Amino acid sequence: MRKNIHEIRWNPLIGTWIIVAGHRGARPWRPTEKPSEAKTCPFCPGSPETRDLGEWDVIVLPNKYPALKPSAYEPPKPVEDIYASMAARGYCEVLVETPKHTGDLHDLSMEHMLKVVKKYRDEYMRLSKIDFIKYVAIFRNKGKEIGVSLVHPHSQIYALPFIPPRIIVELDNFRRFYRERNECLLCHIIDLERERRGDNRIIYENRDFILVHPYYAMWPYELHIYPKRHVEAIDGLTEGELRSLADILRMTTAIYNGLFDRDMPYIMAMHNSPCDDDEYKYYHFHVEFYQPYRDRDKLKYRAGIETGFWVFTFDGNPEEKRKELRSSCFKVSDKLDHMGECVE
Ligand SMILES: [Zn+2]
Ligand SMILES: [Zn+2]
Ligand SMILES: [Zn+2]
Repeated sequence: MRKNIHEIRWNPLIGTWIIVAGHRGARPWRPTEKPSEAKTCPFCPGSPETRDLGEWDVIVLPNKYPALKPSAYEPPKPVEDIYASMAARGYCEVLVETPKHTGDLHDLSMEHMLKVVKKYRDEYMRLSKIDFIKYVAIFRNKGKEIGVSLVHPHSQIYALPFIPPRIIVELDNFRRFYRERNECLLCHIIDLERERRGDNRIIYENRDFILVHPYYAMWPYELHIYPKRHVEAIDGLTEGELRSLADILRMTTAIYNGLFDRDMPYIMAMHNSPCDDDEYKYYHFHVEFYQPYRDRDKLKYRAGIETGFWVFTFDGNPEEKRKELRSSCFKVSDKLDHMGECVE
C-alpha cells in the first residue's frame, strides 16, 4: 500500500480531474473562535508560521496541508486500462488578510482592502507565469456552516495544472455566444441589467463595478460582481478599478452580515481566465458569492438533487431575496465608508 498517496486522477464518467491527497486526511479541525484561542491560531502574529515575518498587514503563506505540491511525484505509469493520472503538481497558498484574529472584509479599512486586492492580483500574475500552471483559483471560505476551521480572516489560492470544470463550462458558453453574436456574454448581460426598468437586479454600483443578484442565481442570496469594462482577468484592471473592486468586495460582505445582523458564512470565487497558452479574449472576469442560508435560520444543503445530479433548486422568491439584499445595502451604507451607491 502506498502511504500518503498524492496524485490527480481522471474521472472518465464526468470528464474531470480529482485531486487525491492522502496526507490531507490528517488535517486537524481546529476552530479558534474565542479570542482566548487566538494563541493557537497559526495566522496571528507571533505564531510559529508568522514569527519570522516582521511587521506585516497582508501576507501569503504556504498551505500547511496542500492539496498540490510543486515537487509532487509523477505517479507510476501505465495505470490500469483506461484509468489516467498525473502528478499533483501545483501550489496551495493562504492569503492572510490582516494580523487581526477576527472580522470580515468590510472590517478592513479601504486602504487595507486595496492591499488585499493587489495581493490577489500579484499572486495571480506570479503563479500564472509558472509553465505547468493552467489555472489560478482564488477563493474565500467563511463560516463553520461551510466547514471553515480557522476564523482568522484569510483567502486561499490554488494554482492548478488543469482548468477547473466549472470554468470549462463558462468558457464554452462565452465562446459559443461570442461566435454566434460577435459579442461578450457578460458585456451583454451587464447592458441588459443596466437598462432594466423595474425590479432592478443590481444591488450596488460604483464607478467600475456592479453587484448583481443574477436572474440565474442558484443560491437564494447569490451575488455576482461584474466589472463594467470588458477585462479577462484581475491583472487587466487599472489602479482605479482595483480600488473600486476593493470597495465593492467590502460592500458585499457588509450586505451579507447586515442581512440578519449577524456574522454570515459565504463562499467567494474569483473567475479569472485560465493561464495556459490559449487566448481567452471572449471571457469576462467576475467574482461570485454563494451564501448557504436560504432564510434567517434555514440552511440550504447541497444534497441529492444538487450533488447527485447537478440540478439546483432556488428555494425562495428571487424578488423577495433581492428586496432583503437591497435593504441590507441601504442599512450598511450608512455605517460603512464606500465609493458607490445602493441601487433603488
Ligand atoms: Zn489569528
Ligand atoms: Zn465582456
Ligand atoms: Zn463565473
